[in-house]
Amino acid sequence: MAPISKECDYLVIGGGSGGLASARRASGQWRAKTIAVESSRLGGTCVNVGCVPKKVTWNAAAIAETLHEAKAYGFSIKETAPFDWTTFKHKRDAYVSRLNGIYEKNLEKDKVEWLHGRAHFLSKNEVEVVLHDGSKQTIRAKNILIATGGHPNIPKDIPGSELGITSDGFFELEKRPEKVALVGAGYIAVEMAGMFRHLGSETHLFIRHDTFLRSFDPMIQETITAEYERQGIIIHRQSSQQKLQKDPTTGKLTLHYSDSTTKSSTLELDCLLWAIGRAPEVEDLALPNAGVKQSEKGHIIADEYQNTNIPHIYSLGDVSGNIELTPVAIAAGRLLANRLFGGPAHKNSKLDYSNIPSVVFAHPEVGSIGLSEPDARKKYGDDNIKVYNTSFTAMYYAMMDSDADKAPTKYKLVVEGEEERVVGLHILGAGCSEMLQGFGVAVKMGARKRDFDACVAIHPTSAEELVTLK
Ligand code: FAD
Ligand code: NDP
Repeated sequence: MAPISKECDYLVIGGGSGGLASARRASGQWRAKTIAVESSRLGGTCVNVGCVPKKVTWNAAAIAETLHEAKAYGFSIKETAPFDWTTFKHKRDAYVSRLNGIYEKNLEKDKVEWLHGRAHFLSKNEVEVVLHDGSKQTIRAKNILIATGGHPNIPKDIPGSELGITSDGFFELEKRPEKVALVGAGYIAVEMAGMFRHLGSETHLFIRHDTFLRSFDPMIQETITAEYERQGIIIHRQSSQQKLQKDPTTGKLTLHYSDSTTKSSTLELDCLLWAIGRAPEVEDLALPNAGVKQSEKGHIIADEYQNTNIPHIYSLGDVSGNIELTPVAIAAGRLLANRLFGGPAHKNSKLDYSNIPSVVFAHPEVGSIGLSEPDARKKYGDDNIKVYNTSFTAMYYAMMDSDADKAPTKYKLVVEGEEERVVGLHILGAGCSEMLQGFGVAVKMGARKRDFDACVAIHPTSAEELVTLK
């Protein structure tokens, strides 16, 4: 066995949302000797190819939407304002690079040693890191956290699927594709289809069923699917893909597909993006050397305290597959560090995974916390569930000349029992992403319908409709 080159209290594998938060808390606050290993850029998926560059692009798409609507407010703006994708992309890259630098400084400030390399297990307590310069280090650690995140899936059974890109490739596009197809029906497909469309691409969305965002309340699924069609996104329902080909001369792709309207057709494209889910990043970890158990899909199995089956090895974030969101990984990482190094006051510290709010940056935004109506009925029984709904056109659209230019706003409150405790809140419409956080606090505190009613409305807003539901 290679000689040990370093020893520490806490070795964190993966410098993304969860790993960095945990490492900084362990070292910065609790003074544990901590080493973090990251093979790529600091910040992980969220900073480099996820939340951050996505939200900046969503902002650009939202500006395009506003420019389109500005005419109705009396502005003389050309119908299609030119958008310089290439310049925007490079500015976005520079912002992400600045963040990488800030993350590095923060590690320094909190005295976390970071190694730029790829880690794998040698045994339960020993990890080898192949550094970027090709040299190796062997680290013995009292505690090890696996926070290696995930990567996008590409179908294995469709010839030519490798000609398509994934969400990672979205952020590398130097030019706006004129004609693009997305395959998938979750957060990423819906967010990226909206962005492409509003930034001017002809956008096709291939889904396997009749609606997308099927893990959300039916009101959300149905409304946002119809709304995307209104906005000109071409939705291929009940679709499947047979093959993807590339013309070597023009670089154009041809997708062979079927959908609810055709048994066999082709579509010529500049770009195809697979957004069919993500898989845990575990392949290089040599997990059998440590005996860490995985689920059928490869996720590392961790309990509510983030313990794996091996004492002193922990896991959290996307690699353990329990609610794949940045704030979830961050919160779980900090709480784990508190539990491991924070002394007796923190010995039961763990994340409460219930009632976690999330938002899809669609056009318009979608927000959700708690149970969908069908899940609430299943859990509590039809007789114990009451639903309050509202559907209206936000005042913002009053100035639009045609109904065809008006986006919907819909809210749903699902309440349980005589007390009418809120067990689900589902909102769709402009501004929902900012609205949900505050309502999330109320739901987390166990708010009842009458608590919502007791809060005086803020007028004129869309959010006021949530405290005046009948
Ligand atoms: P990651 O952030 O993925 O970090 C894992 C790190 O481990 C990576 O940097 C990787 O390079 C490193 N690594 C892997 N294997 C090794 C190894 N063997 N050795 C060393 N290093 C290794 N979430 C939100 O909350 N809001 C959003 O708006 C949002 N938008 C998203 C948009 C997109 C396009 C995507 C893909 C995701 C988005 N997410 C969003 C999800 C969010 O990015 C993830 O849930 C979050 O980054 C998970 O954090 P993590 O720490 O588990 O993993
Ligand atoms: P999701 O798991 O959200 O969605 C993927 C969907 O694609 C599936 O639900 C399925 O929907 C569909 N699908 C699966 N396989 C195929 C296939 N072979 N062909 C066609 N469609 C298929 O994954 P994403 O990749 O969109 O996102 C991963 C995670 O990242 C999210 O779950 C979320 O936790 C996080 N994320 C969060 C964001 C945010 O907070 N705003 C933004 C982006 C990502 P169906 O069964 O209906 O076909």
